[in-house]
Amino acid sequence: MTHNNTEEDSTKKTSLNFIEQIIEQNLAEGKNESRVHTRFPPEPNGYLHIGHAKSICLNFGLAQKYNGLCNLRFDDTNPVKEDVEYVDSILEDVKWLGFDWEDRLYYASDYFDQLFDWAVKIIKKGKAYVDDQSAEEISSQRGTPSKPGMESPFRNRSIEENLDLFQRMKSGEFPSGARVLRAKVDMASPNMQLRDPAMYRIKHAHHHRTGDQWCIYPMYDFAHGQSDYIEGITNSICTLEFEVHRPLYDWYLDQITDTEYRPVQTEFARLNLSYTIMSKRKLLQLVEEKHVNGWDDPRIPTLSGLRRRGYTPDAIRNFAETIGVAKRDNVIDVALLEYSVKQDLNKKANRVMAVLDPIKVVITNYPEGQIEELEAINNPEDESAGKRRIQFSRELYIERSDFMEDPPRKFFRLTPDKEVRLRYGYIIKCNEVIKNAQGEITELHCTYDPDTRSGSGIVTRKVKGTIHWLSITHALEVEVRLYDRLFLNENPDNVEEGKDFKSNINPNSLTVINGFVEDSLANAEVESKFQFERTGYFCVDKDTTSEKLVFNRTVLLRDSWAKMIKK
Ligand code: ATP
Ligand code: MG
Repeated sequence: MTHNNTEEDSTKKTSLNFIEQIIEQNLAEGKNESRVHTRFPPEPNGYLHIGHAKSICLNFGLAQKYNGLCNLRFDDTNPVKEDVEYVDSILEDVKWLGFDWEDRLYYASDYFDQLFDWAVKIIKKGKAYVDDQSAEEISSQRGTPSKPGMESPFRNRSIEENLDLFQRMKSGEFPSGARVLRAKVDMASPNMQLRDPAMYRIKHAHHHRTGDQWCIYPMYDFAHGQSDYIEGITNSICTLEFEVHRPLYDWYLDQITDTEYRPVQTEFARLNLSYTIMSKRKLLQLVEEKHVNGWDDPRIPTLSGLRRRGYTPDAIRNFAETIGVAKRDNVIDVALLEYSVKQDLNKKANRVMAVLDPIKVVITNYPEGQIEELEAINNPEDESAGKRRIQFSRELYIERSDFMEDPPRKFFRLTPDKEVRLRYGYIIKCNEVIKNAQGEITELHCTYDPDTRSGSGIVTRKVKGTIHWLSITHALEVEVRLYDRLFLNENPDNVEEGKDFKSNINPNSLTVINGFVEDSLANAEVESKFQFERTGYFCVDKDTTSEKLVFNRTVLLRDSWAKMIKK
């Protein structure tokens, strides 16, 4: 189900959201020396997506608001799935989004020695033990939320034996998966997370930073809170699935320290978007199985994809601000994100004329070879964007859809024997429709009225419609990539039994066409953004060559959401 209830689930800009309330209460109580220090903790096992952007905006945004600091920390405790390619892309994406970690870039793997020492400390307290059972055996003893688990036969090993075994785990004596270090908490706890969770597992695997130095790796739960503690984090903000981990987060901190300073974990609802897959695992599948063309494919919600699509950091940050933070899971309509993009590009993107599906128009009373320069406004929303000159001549392109031979009553574009205005130009009238043997329209023969030039100062009669056009000799042929939703169903995971989300892929999510644009775009830079008048926003793709410009359609001007907002 899709909700647009951004007000119900979040708090309005003027009042505080629930995380800000917690922070302000902590500040008022003088907790943690009244500091605010947050962190964004990605695992480098994929590219960042719009959901991560929400978390980045939240963490860096809170630090800004409360004059605090925000760290960037890689949660790199699982060597098997992690890679430097991901580290590099994450650094680039956070910067692109407009946030600065200054000198506070950290890696959980930098804390491996400290974490090991703390594990030893917990063993010495008699609060951790080495379990020789297999993962399957351990899992079969966990019980259910209503049924207590079974204690491991190794639970009551002596401290000395545990210390010896843990040391030997570290020195590589045992194969991967042969033993684990477990916290000795409570096998009967109603919170399954507290049923003697694993702290360390054996993995003989190469780590992208520590190389082959380690063959035991800490579990997320044993690394995260401790990393927060090492960095002096005050507010450890994470998504709802970690709510049940919070008692364990606190338990580990209790074992390693008795300082008054304590990071506080607070959970918020992760961002879900309609028609959008947000799981890193599934995004990886789309990329690896080539359903899309790489991590920066403009159809997926990775930040590099959205960037290539033409979305701006401002639009994404405004979107994050608009949706706010919720305590309950919900689904946001992807059209709200698109709306935010349009709002932003409306202010920033220069207008140009482009014809994507051309039909030739000959102005029969315009002298052959004559060229006239007309003045066009670059951006009516931004006077500083200035004006440009566009060429008018005898042969033009207009959009095929702007002409109808048998128009319905309210069609105010070009039709036989009726007048229409050419944007920034003259009023023209269609006198003759030329067709080929198959009956398809190949040309329109029109006449122009020389006394109707826009901006000439002459007051002329009014016509109902204005259409865009290009002078054929001054038009550049370009490639245009038109994107549609990648999934047919608003919930991509909603599939028949036995099928997976990929069965929902829209086979027509990408259409590549050739179109025409003003030659003023000849030297447009990669990533520059334009409004193609009356159509939508487009940006220059990195596949552009000196031979041919390639455009991505960022978003259409009109859609259902725009209508809903206007009402
Ligand atoms: P994984 O399953 O690999 O852990 P993840 O999406 O949680 O996937 P992380 O790299 O662990 O990825 O996420 C970094 C941070 O971004 C975490 O704090 C996580 O809670 C947050 N985050 C991830 N997805 C979303 C989302 N959809 N909305 C908001 N925050 C998110
Ligand atoms: Mg995670």
